[in-house]
Amino acid sequence: MRCPFCNQDNTRVVDSRPVEDTNSIRRRRLCDACGKRFTTYEKVETIPLTVIKKDQNRESYKRSKIQDGVLRACYKRPIPIERVEEMIDSIEGDIFRSEDREISSTKIGEIVMEHLKDLDAVAYVRFASVYREFKDVSTFMDELKKLIN
Ligand SMILES: [Zn+2]
Repeated sequence: MRCPFCNQDNTRVVDSRPVEDTNSIRRRRLCDACGKRFTTYEKVETIPLTVIKKDQNRESYKRSKIQDGVLRACYKRPIPIERVEEMIDSIEGDIFRSEDREISSTKIGEIVMEHLKDLDAVAYVRFASVYREFKDVSTFMDELKKLIN
């Protein structure tokens, strides 16, 4: 993105956070050429982001994919839907923190787990077991131990 002050293209994102209720990301940018800072508001759906899946196929980022996985993990857990939506907002804040145009599904999974861990232990373990494809009881136990420590 070009700097509005000096028109150079050397800007980088120094902070990124979701804006409540607008489905936008507020990005604080720093221009490396002139050192000035400025803020942009970008609609999530207008930010181009490609997800690289485990089989190396690419698809465009969709919030609904994360939502589906999270809701499945939270099934019948006593978590208000507003909390879930808030969490997905902050997950998106993390996903769009960098300006990279590509992100691996593995990285997204890690971000989701990081947030779920704080929300609900059962939902976290459910998500992790699907996501990490636990092959046996011992890997599952390792994950549980990590959670307890
Ligand atoms: Zn500048």
